[in-house]
Amino acid sequence: MTTTREAVGLPAIAFNLTKPGYLAHKGEIDDAIREVLETSWFVLGKNGDAFEHEFAGYLGMSHVLGCNSGYDALVLALRALGIGAGHEVLTVSHTAVATAVAISATGATPVFCDIDPVSFNIDPDTLEAHLTPRTRAIVPVHLYGQAADMGPIMAFARAHNLKVVEDCAQAHGARWQGQLVGTFGDIAAFSFYPTKNLGAYGDGGAVATNDDALAYHLSMLRNYGWQPGKRYISEIRGVNSRLDELQAAILRVKLRHLDGGNDARRRLASRYESHLSGLPGLILPSQSAGNHHVFHLYVVRLEARDDIATSLREAGIGTHVHYPQPIHRQPAYLDHGYGVGSLPETERACHDVLSLPMYPELPDADVARVARILRMLIEGRPTS
Ligand SMILES: *Cc1c(COP(=O)(O)O)cnc(C)c1O
Repeated sequence: MTTTREAVGLPAIAFNLTKPGYLAHKGEIDDAIREVLETSWFVLGKNGDAFEHEFAGYLGMSHVLGCNSGYDALVLALRALGIGAGHEVLTVSHTAVATAVAISATGATPVFCDIDPVSFNIDPDTLEAHLTPRTRAIVPVHLYGQAADMGPIMAFARAHNLKVVEDCAQAHGARWQGQLVGTFGDIAAFSFYPTKNLGAYGDGGAVATNDDALAYHLSMLRNYGWQPGKRYISEIRGVNSRLDELQAAILRVKLRHLDGGNDARRRLASRYESHLSGLPGLILPSQSAGNHHVFHLYVVRLEARDDIATSLREAGIGTHVHYPQPIHRQPAYLDHGYGVGSLPETERACHDVLSLPMYPELPDADVARVARILRMLIEGRPTS
C-alpha cells in the first residue's frame, strides 16, 4: 500500500526497527555468533554462564538464570515461590497478556488492580481492596520502561507476607529512587524478546534473585528438575526452558550497549517533549520524581486516538496501541467476573493511549516529522 508520505517521496517512519541496532554493532554480533557456531556448543554452555554472570553484575544481584522467554521467567518465578492452585496473585490488567497468562499457568488466579493514570503502573492504594486470605503474591509490572511505585508496594507485601515477582520485561535498566528495577522483590522476570530494551534475536528471558536457595530451585526447574551438572535424574518436576548459547552470546554484546540505548531513548523522549509540549488535549508521558524512565515505549494520551492513529498511518507513520483491550475484558478472562467499568483508569487508558515511534537509532529528523504531523492533526490542519 502506498501511503501519502511515500507518494510525495518521503520514507515511511516505522514504529520500531531492530535492524539499525544490529547494524550499529554488527562486527561484535557477527563475531559472537561465529564463535558459537565454531565452538558448536548450543545449550547451557559458557556464553549462557557468562551472560548470567554479567547480567547479575549489571543488576548488582547474586543470581541470574536464563530461560526461554519473559513469560517462562514469570511462570518459573511464581512456581519457585510455591504459587499455584488456590492462590491469588495481585497484578494489573493494563499490561502485556503474558503477565496474566503466566499467573494462570501456575494454577493461580490473577487479581486485577487498577492503575495510576499518570504512571500507568499498579496503584498501590488499590491493593488493600483486593486482599483475601488466598492472596500470596504481587506481580508489579514496570510498564513502558517506568518503575512501578516500589516503596509502597514492598511495604504492603511485607505487611501481608506476600511474595513479589517484578515483571521487568519492559524496563531493563529503569530505576525507582535510584535503585534498579528487579532488585526489590523476591524474584525478577526479564524478557529478551527482540524489541525489548535488551533484546535477543529470537525468544529469551531470565529470572534474577538474591536468594541462593531460590536460585538453586530455579536452575532445576528450568532444566527438567535436574541438579546443576547432574543429568538424567529429576529431583523435582521441572520443565525445559533454557536460554540457548546463540542468544546468550548475542545478549552479552547487547548488554554492553544497554545503557547507551536507554540514554538514546531518553534523549528521543525529550525531543518529543520539546516538540509536543503545550498542545491542548495531548498528554505526554511523565516521569515521576526520582524515577529513571527507560522509554521502552513513548506513550501519549489523546481523546481522538483512533482517528489520529489512522491519519498518522495514512501519512506513513507507524504507531501502536499498548494495549487496546484490557485483559479483564478479553474473552479468556471474562469468567473472572470483572464487568465494564470495574477498573476505570485501566479502561480509560486503553481508550486513549498511543505509542509513537521509539527505538534507540530513531533519527531526530523523524521525531521532528512525527511531532509536526501530530501537531497539525491535533490542531485540525491539513498534513499535506
Ligand atoms: C514482553 C512482555 C512479557 C513477555 O515476554 P516474552 O519474552 O515475550 O514471553 C511479559 N510482560 C511484559 C510486561 C512484557 O512486555
